[in-house]
Amino acid sequence: MDITLIQGAISSMSSITEIAKSLIELKSISEVKAKSIELLSVAVEAQERALAARKDQAAMIEEIDRLKKELMRRETWDSEKERYVLQDMTVGSPACVMKKSKSRGEAPQWYCANCFSNGKASILCFHRSASGLAVYACNSCPSKIRPPEGKPVSHVYSHLI
Ligand SMILES: [Zn+2]
Repeated sequence: MDITLIQGAISSMSSITEIAKSLIELKSISEVKAKSIELLSVAVEAQERALAARKDQAAMIEEIDRLKKELMRRETWDSEKERYVLQDMTVGSPACVMKKSKSRGEAPQWYCANCFSNGKASILCFHRSASGLAVYACNSCPSKIRPPEGKPVSHVYSHLI
């Protein structure tokens, strides 16, 4: 939050009070008119500063809310990621697999190592490329991995803890 916005609004409010007090001591209509114009100008300035401070505060509240949600997501992910282990599907093709002991009845799946490192368990889906090659592709990022020949996901899964 820009504290100068609040300080400026407070300063303008003090000026309004001083100008209002001085109105009482004025003797002529022309002096009252001139002071009223000055008062109106300072009041408008105070209103603009207060609105700017309010807008700044709303943005700050929105950012705090976003950060709280991100913190909650990361805390949830910290416990969730313990359910997985990184493996090489084939040499140099890492993927994550859920530990058998941590399964809550989920079917065996491979998960994208790239997305996993970014805090998300994204299932790799089986596809055939235009040339007929079998690949596992991530639906959340462009990662594609060649599956091990002749080894279904359940084979890898059954060998985990
Ligand atoms: Zn991915």
